Amino acid sequence: MLNIVLFGPPGAGKGTQSQKIIEKYKLQHLATGDMLRAAIREKSPIGIEAQKYIDKGQLVPDEMVIDLIAAELDNHYEVPGFVFDGFPRTTVQARKLDEMLEVKKAPITVMLALEVDYDELIARLVNRGKISDRTDDQDENVIRSRIDIYNKTTLPVMDYYKTQGKYRGINGMGSIDEIFNRICKVIDSSK
Ligand code: ADP
Repeated sequence: MLNIVLFGPPGAGKGTQSQKIIEKYKLQHLATGDMLRAAIREKSPIGIEAQKYIDKGQLVPDEMVIDLIAAELDNHYEVPGFVFDGFPRTTVQARKLDEMLEVKKAPITVMLALEVDYDELIARLVNRGKISDRTDDQDENVIRSRIDIYNKTTLPVMDYYKTQGKYRGINGMGSIDEIFNRICKVIDSSK
């Protein structure tokens, strides 16, 4: 299996690049942010609970996203691999993901970390807030809070994969196709 963790701060382009990766390599996309927003639209109990955190720019509790991912891994047992987008965001989530994949005998192949300058992230998110209905992109304080949490809580996940020798940094500045070409080179050399 080809299992990819696509990592990076809010606004790094994980969603955009995930779409291109799943199309080219025929992988299943698992994006916890998308799953949570779907739960919010459905007004399910998970959605109602998650919205409180998302609106403040905080992470939702680990168990919540771990349960969502566990269910999706069970739903898709015959795919050539997964792209994990926005997950894991804490070291607890990273360890749990390894445990779940261990059962499937299909470990993470590579972790791709998109690297984008702080000012560029803010500019992209403010711009996304103008053209999308994502409420967490409409308020610059919420945007800054998400990037702060990324730096404090999510960055250690990078070390987790560095220790395993799976971390690969990708320059996330430039055109969508330039970045995608960089990603493909790394994926093709990791397979
Ligand atoms: P972005 O990368 O722009 O923040 P996402 O769609 O990945 O967008 O996430 C939106 C929000 O959903 C996050 O700010 C957080 O509140 C919540 N979320 C998504 N994934 C996770 C996760 N793995 N752990 C905790 N919270 C998450």
